[in-house]
Amino acid sequence: MEIKAAHLDMKSMIPTADYGLTVIDELAEQGFNAIVVEFEDKFPFDVTQGLHHPCAWTKEEFRRFGIRCKEKNIKLVPLLQSVGHLDYILKYPKFRNLRDGGPEGTSYQWCLALEESFDLWCAMTEELLEVFPDTEIFHIGADECNMKLPCEACGTNKIDLYIKRVSRCAEYVQKKGMKALLWDDVFRRYGADKFALLPKGVIPCVWMYGEIDFNYIERMAASGLEFWGASCIQAHRFYYAMSPQEPKMANVDEWGKVHPMYPQITGHIGTIWGRIECQSPIDSTLPQSMFMTAYLAETLNNGIIKDRKKFADDFGKKFFGVELDYDTMLRNFCYEPEYSAPIVAELKDKALRHRDIAEIWYAFNAIDRRILYINLCFANNEAMLKIWREGMAPDEVTSNWLDGVRRCYEDTMEVLAEIRPMMLKYFPEKMWDEFVDQRLGAKLEQNEYWRHVLTAAARKWKENLKKI
Ligand SMILES: [Zn+2]
Repeated sequence: MEIKAAHLDMKSMIPTADYGLTVIDELAEQGFNAIVVEFEDKFPFDVTQGLHHPCAWTKEEFRRFGIRCKEKNIKLVPLLQSVGHLDYILKYPKFRNLRDGGPEGTSYQWCLALEESFDLWCAMTEELLEVFPDTEIFHIGADECNMKLPCEACGTNKIDLYIKRVSRCAEYVQKKGMKALLWDDVFRRYGADKFALLPKGVIPCVWMYGEIDFNYIERMAASGLEFWGASCIQAHRFYYAMSPQEPKMANVDEWGKVHPMYPQITGHIGTIWGRIECQSPIDSTLPQSMFMTAYLAETLNNGIIKDRKKFADDFGKKFFGVELDYDTMLRNFCYEPEYSAPIVAELKDKALRHRDIAEIWYAFNAIDRRILYINLCFANNEAMLKIWREGMAPDEVTSNWLDGVRRCYEDTMEVLAEIRPMMLKYFPEKMWDEFVDQRLGAKLEQNEYWRHVLTAAARKWKENLKKI
C-alpha cells in the first residue's frame, strides 16, 4: 500500500507544539508515511479573525511541524472540512449568516448555495498551503453532512449542491497539483453511482469503524475508482480518559482482510477521534493512541496480527525497553482501570524509552479510576435517594457513603495534584485544565450535592430515633 496514514485530530486535546514533534518521530519509527492533520480551531487562521482556541499553535510552530514531517518522510495531509463539521466557525455570531438554514439554522454545516462559504474555504486553504508549501495530498472532509435540512437558499436539491461544491473544492486543490481526498459516506447514503460525477482523480476515503460492508467495497473496486480505507483506532467511550483497545483491534483486523484483496485501495487512514464537534467534550488524541498506531502499522505493513497477546507484549518490550504484562494492562484500559493500575505504575517508573507515553497512560488511567469510583458512589446515592430523604438509613450506612463523598473529593484532588505536573510536559496548561474540568468538574459539583443530601439524611435519622 502506497500511503499509510495516522490522524492528528486537533479538534480535541492537542499536545504542545514541541511535544508534537516527537509524536512525528514515533509514527515514522512505527512505519507510517503520512499524517492527516485536522486543524479545526487549533490553527490561527487570519481569515476567521482570531476566533481560534487559546491553545492553538502558531503558524511558526505549524511550519516546524511540517518540516519535521518532511525530515521523517511523512507526508502531511491537511484536512479542511468543506461542508459540515464547521461549528468551530459557525457558532460565532459573525459567521451566522453562512449557516445552512439561515442565521437561525444549524451551526454544523454551511449553506452551499452561498458563494461566501466557498470563498472562505478557499481563503483558509490558501493559509494552510502557505504554511505547508510541500503539500501533495489535501483532504476536503465533507463527511456526515445532512442533505435534508430545510433551507430556503438551497431548496430541495441539496445533494446536487453538495456534489457541485465538493467538486469545486477538489478541483481547487487539484489545479495546484495536489491529489484531493474526501470522505465517502454522503455518497454511500445518497447513491454511490454519484462518485462518477466527481472530477477525475478525486479519491474517496471509505470509513468503516465497526464491521466492514464487503459488498460496498466490492462495488467500489469494480467501479474502477482509486480509493482509500479508514479504520478507527481511537475514540472515546462514555468519556473515560482512555479508550478500549479491543474493538479497535477488531476493526483494524477487518481492514487487514480487505486491503490485500483490492489493489484499487492505495491508502489507509487510522483515525483517532478527539471529538465529534467542538461543542462536545474533548478527548485525548494522538499520544494516547501509540499502541493502536503500532497495531495498525504492523497490520498495514505485514498483514493481520494473529496473536494479539504476543503482539502487545512484544510491542511493550520494544517500545518501552522493559518486560511487563502489557496485554493485561492494555486490555483493561477503560473497562477495569484498577487491573491496569499496578502495571502502568511500574511502567512509568521503569520505562527505558518513551517514558512520555508511559506517563500519559498512567495519568489517564488514574483519571479513569477516579471516574469509576465516583460513578459507583453516585449510582448508589441515586438508588438510595428516597431512603436518604426520609432519614431511614442507619448511621453506619450514611457515614459509609459520606466517607465516599469525602474520598470522591480528596482522592481526586490528590491524583490531580500528582499528575498535573507530569501532563504539563506534554499538553498546554489550558488544554489540560479544560480536559480535567470536562471529565471531573461537574462530578465534583454533584459530589457537593450528595454531601448535602447525606448530611441531611444523618440528621434526620437522629430526629426519627428521638420520635420513637
Ligand atoms: Zn442552504
